[in-house]
Amino acid sequence: MTMAITTLSSMAAVGPHVLPPLPYVEGALSPFISARTVGLHRDQHHQGYVDALNKAVVGTPYADLSLQQIVSTTAYQAEHATVFNNAAQVLNHNFYWQSLRPQGGGEPPASIKPLIEACFGNVAACKAALAAAAAKRFGSGWVWLVLEAGELKVLDTGNAHGPSSPSQRPLLAIDVWEHAYYLDYQNRRAEHVTVLLDKLINWGFAADNLR
Ligand code: MN
Repeated sequence: MTMAITTLSSMAAVGPHVLPPLPYVEGALSPFISARTVGLHRDQHHQGYVDALNKAVVGTPYADLSLQQIVSTTAYQAEHATVFNNAAQVLNHNFYWQSLRPQGGGEPPASIKPLIEACFGNVAACKAALAAAAAKRFGSGWVWLVLEAGELKVLDTGNAHGPSSPSQRPLLAIDVWEHAYYLDYQNRRAEHVTVLLDKLINWGFAADNLR
């Protein structure tokens, strides 16, 4: 299957916003993330953000802006919280689905592995840093691998927020909202994230985002 690579920065589609195709079938991440979790996550949560965003921007100047433009212009402004939260969650989830793949995990491609080793020591340490950020994040949010000033860094962000500095280029996103894992792992977020990193993380997507 050919996968459309769409990075945060290259998303220029203007509303009405639509759910992009999933780059694999709903059951493809099973048994590590069940088809039921993927189905609910995408058809209810992700679609819900798309629908709420389209409703919120109708007749406003945001109707003519891309997702990235909406997110950049409304972040940290309380009066625009509804538009921001829904636009950011659409963008974050678009990126999240591409950050996973069936038969993922394993060794990163040669186009990113040396950078991982330079910044973290080895791949295991990079995964440990991502897992630690997931454990540290209190409540709902996201964990990111980003490129900033030529270095790889791990960030965790709350609720709908993502990397907020234009100097931070997202390479991978991990959803640590409970809806991402509760049906399959209940309260065991750490176990979910460890399995995700070992079996599903899409290092090829991270490498593509370096270019
Ligand atoms: Mn989610």
